[in-house]
Amino acid sequence: MRAFLAVFPPPEVQQAVHRQLAALRGGREPIAWVRRENLHLTLRFLGEVDEGTCAAAAAAARETAARHGAFEVVLGAPGAFPDARHARVLWLGLAGGALESRAIAASLEEALVARGFAPAEPPFTPHLTVGRPRARVDWTPRFAALPPLQAAFRVHELVLVESVLAPGGSRYAVRERFPLRGA
Ligand code: ATP
Ligand code: MG
Repeated sequence: MRAFLAVFPPPEVQQAVHRQLAALRGGREPIAWVRRENLHLTLRFLGEVDEGTCAAAAAAARETAARHGAFEVVLGAPGAFPDARHARVLWLGLAGGALESRAIAASLEEALVARGFAPAEPPFTPHLTVGRPRARVDWTPRFAALPPLQAAFRVHELVLVESVLAPGGSRYAVRERFPLRGA
């Protein structure tokens, strides 16, 4: 199966983000927007894994979650990889919770590598992907016109997700949840 480890905003925050991004969605250029219920922060993409590898990733996530407390994420300004003029991935940055999510991703990386996983490629940068442009457009003006987002949530758990690729966008299924310390 295809799997990854992530943090999910609660449905009402996914809904709010989706609604607030309307200002970015006006154009007619081709772009694959992330479906509302799929909006998430990827901590680690695992790729195709068998049951044994999946269990090892789950153990790494459980160990990591036990070492970090719950924290607050505040979604921030939009950005793009590699940049706004050559955007292949549109995302929202973290105005809050970036340090905590980096610390969790670093612990996770250590726990995975200790179990024989190859180092993450590319290294972790906290962001919430919102769309994948299929044509070259300069997003700078629309980023500038986007009103500041109102989207914050508390992170209580990490999740192991199975991704089933489908033509209209992948379908995600939560395989296991790992409560953060004290949550
Ligand atoms: P789709 O591929 O249908 O557009 P998706 O990208 O949401 O949907 P997946 O490709 O299964 O679904 O990816 C799951 C998560 O892992 C996403 O957050 C995605 O950005 C991330 N991801 C996918 N491939 C890689 C990769 N090669 N390296 C790092 N992260 C990846
Ligand atoms: Mg993908």
